[in-house]
Amino acid sequence: MRRTLRVESLNVGQGQLAGKIVVADWVEHPERGRVRCPAAALLAGSLRRAGLEPVRVEHLRAEDLSSRDITCSADVAAVASYVDRDGSALGMAAAVPGGDRRAAALVLGAVRQWAQVLRTRRIALAAVKPWCTGLEASFRALDQLLSTVAGPVHVLGTPPPCRVTTEEFIRRGTVFVESLDQVPDGALLHFGPAGASPLVRAKAATRDLVLSDGTCPLVAAAAGEVRRLAEEGATVVVVADPAHAAVPTLTGQAPEQVVLVNEMAQADAVRVGDPGPIGVVVEPGADVARLMRVAERVRARFDHVRPQHPATLCHEPSDRHNALRLLAEADVVLVVGKAAADDSEEVVARFAALGVPAFVVASAGEVEPDWLRTAGCVGVTASLTADPGAVDGVVDALRGLGPSAVVEVAVRTSPVVPRVVVPPVIRPTPV
Ligand code: SF4
Repeated sequence: MRRTLRVESLNVGQGQLAGKIVVADWVEHPERGRVRCPAAALLAGSLRRAGLEPVRVEHLRAEDLSSRDITCSADVAAVASYVDRDGSALGMAAAVPGGDRRAAALVLGAVRQWAQVLRTRRIALAAVKPWCTGLEASFRALDQLLSTVAGPVHVLGTPPPCRVTTEEFIRRGTVFVESLDQVPDGALLHFGPAGASPLVRAKAATRDLVLSDGTCPLVAAAAGEVRRLAEEGATVVVVADPAHAAVPTLTGQAPEQVVLVNEMAQADAVRVGDPGPIGVVVEPGADVARLMRVAERVRARFDHVRPQHPATLCHEPSDRHNALRLLAEADVVLVVGKAAADDSEEVVARFAALGVPAFVVASAGEVEPDWLRTAGCVGVTASLTADPGAVDGVVDALRGLGPSAVVEVAVRTSPVVPRVVVPPVIRPTPV
């Protein structure tokens, strides 16, 4: 690929720039013909960081090879191009109105910088779907409600972690609330994925409200296990991170009988006054492997512990963590999402602990060439805060940085349907 790489200054056909600095999605090259520029967003981002205000245009026509320097008074384009395996040309191009010497130098510098990044590489994706099944189903139900009802929809629970999606829901009439007191009579109330305790549900039922339930089925199942064990007379140890949204739904099933435990030390310190049975329920929505170790510690300390049914465990957060661990083979990882968000920071810290540099980017425009220069494998994952389509935008742009293969690293724990044992054929005995 590098044998065919060219970085050059080309004359721009008249009347194309209208006085603006432009970055093109494809450029008509006088020798190579159509040069596609999938990495245009990366180049535009570099120019913005340099203080310029580039405009994206679909197409730029470069008429001939320039004999002049890019800093002369004519409109000129800086173009990097290479020929791919199938003979098509790819690259990137930005153009500057004549006479703007400073901008011309910055544009040429940025194109040269990105040209140094062009190489063959793998792009490894892991956990690029930012939301789990429960979140997705609950907010899909909300989306359908908003499409079918006229008035506002009140949602009890945390808004989606993605700002763009939350703003869109609010624009369409969603009111996110933390308590029933914020919901007026006659309103339509949707329970979010973390559900609600029986007390809250009972209060809602006595009000003049139309109810819709978007509780994640696994949260509902774990809550059902707490209720079942409590009804059997057990003290129920709920193993959970107290900060998680679903915890009040679980503990609220039987507040008098529930003990909340998060760490090993707490498991060692659990005291049960009543000598009756003990149940253990692990919260869905957290790292199941860690919480199961805490649950096992509780089980080891008491006789006759009644566990929850394993079908009510949620493996999605653990699957995500394990997929990220596999992504550590990458030379650098791009975490698509919001920089100032707990989840993004946690993912970056996870890679830092594995010795892999990781950077949070909201979109392709925030990717910097220095991060990728020597990277033969670029990992891409999504933070919970990733905007819809942002991961695709980053991957599409990376594909423009030389011949690439996009591979997906996935870890998926799912129940295996028991094997059906076919009974032997019984032959009728001849009479
Ligand atoms: S229980 Fe699992 S699937 Fe349901 S909301 Fe929590 S993480 Fe998502």
